[in-house]
Amino acid sequence: MVNETHQLRCTGCARVIEQQALRGNFRCEACGDLYEVEYPGWSAGRNEERSQATRPNPNALRWLWRERRASTAMEDQSGVWRFREMLPIVKSDASIVSLREGNTPLYPLRRAARSTGVERLFAKHQGMNPTGSFKDTGMTTALSVASEMGFSWVACASTGNTSAAMAAYAARAGMRSLVLIPEGKIAWGKLAQSLDYGALTLQVKTDFDGCFRVLSEVVERAPVYLLNSVNPYRLEGQKTPAMEIAEQMEWEVPDHVIVPGGNLANSSALGKGFLEMKRLGLTTRVPKISVVQAEGANPLYCSMVKTGGKTLEPVAANTRASAIRIGNPASWKKAVRVIQETGGWVEQASEAEIALAKAEIGAEGIGCEPASAVTLAGLKKLVRQGRIAREESVVLVLTGHTLKDSEYTIQYHRGKLLGEDEAAGMEAEIEATRRNTIELEAAADNVLRELERASR
Ligand SMILES: *Cc1c(COP(=O)(O)O)cnc(C)c1O
Ligand SMILES: [Zn+2]
Repeated sequence: MVNETHQLRCTGCARVIEQQALRGNFRCEACGDLYEVEYPGWSAGRNEERSQATRPNPNALRWLWRERRASTAMEDQSGVWRFREMLPIVKSDASIVSLREGNTPLYPLRRAARSTGVERLFAKHQGMNPTGSFKDTGMTTALSVASEMGFSWVACASTGNTSAAMAAYAARAGMRSLVLIPEGKIAWGKLAQSLDYGALTLQVKTDFDGCFRVLSEVVERAPVYLLNSVNPYRLEGQKTPAMEIAEQMEWEVPDHVIVPGGNLANSSALGKGFLEMKRLGLTTRVPKISVVQAEGANPLYCSMVKTGGKTLEPVAANTRASAIRIGNPASWKKAVRVIQETGGWVEQASEAEIALAKAEIGAEGIGCEPASAVTLAGLKKLVRQGRIAREESVVLVLTGHTLKDSEYTIQYHRGKLLGEDEAAGMEAEIEATRRNTIELEAAADNVLRELERASR
């Protein structure tokens, strides 16, 4: 065996393979399902003696991970790789391609805590990563693997953030990157990043799901490494915010973590992270992980309501929250397992609920992408349904930065984002959060008048 620390297990038929046996589209040859990275050295059971020897010691790890933050080495400063004992997937630290991702802030949300009644409410702001979204945490791991394997081209189909992250990390590694984006349906900030970092960027006349279908064939026909979240190494990086959240809460995990759901890799990865920490004795329990989708792109929500997560019908996705405009999520089975194992729920939010929640988060001085705001919209519903109690602690995962899609924000504040029918019944709440610009002649009197009006 070339790599003794990890192996890949099919989430459908449970067959185990080595890294070298992975196909270009990352699907199982036998059943077509996705693989998951696992570390045989960690498992207890018949191999008890061996696992005693190779299993990391929780106290030593907590100390080591904190110490690394003071190091000057990039792989120690990275909020992904400083937890590398949890993701031993590269053979040499020299293969690591990093932009010092992770180590993102956990902010108390004071206003939202008051309005929802959930006193211990926090935002884990993954938009504070180098390219402005959580995708960096998974890109550093999967692209490091690609680099170690000797690929010169990497590729993804993207609603925007994956391409921004991939293009940046590929450029750092001296690799070429190929991006397929749905024509006319991605936020400008994200497209700009892809061009800035030098990706070959193709706008394809289809939606995200169509882009992914085309690319799946391309990677079978050319030596191009696929970096969509079907790539199991992405999830290894994307699980590290779980370690950060635990560390930031003094190793007492929150009662609930709420995550936006698009392709459903992020929720799966966070769940994997929390479950693995508990298995290794780093924490004593796991948070309930709940996923929130946009009403217009809600295949998981429908699947849970109609079949309890047994089957999933793809939908034609349509929402302004472009990062979660996905109708046929690749990782849905992994997400269902995480939701069921941790005891969480799936909710959905309307366009108006998303827009209002985004404005409320922005008004706390934090700001996020529309897709991230589904978490607060979903929290309100889960509290109303009695599924989240006010004395419980809750972490909302904010997945992207507010500057990714400033057009959305400006349209909202101009009152031009939502149609009348969409905002029906929420007009007053929306109006209270709107802050449009005011045009006036250049005179102090005019400014003073506005100041007085706004102070009333
Ligand atoms: C990618 C992305 C999501 C969705 O994550 P999945 O893993 O596809 O479910 C949500 N928000 C933002 C900002 C994203 O970039
Ligand atoms: Zn299989």
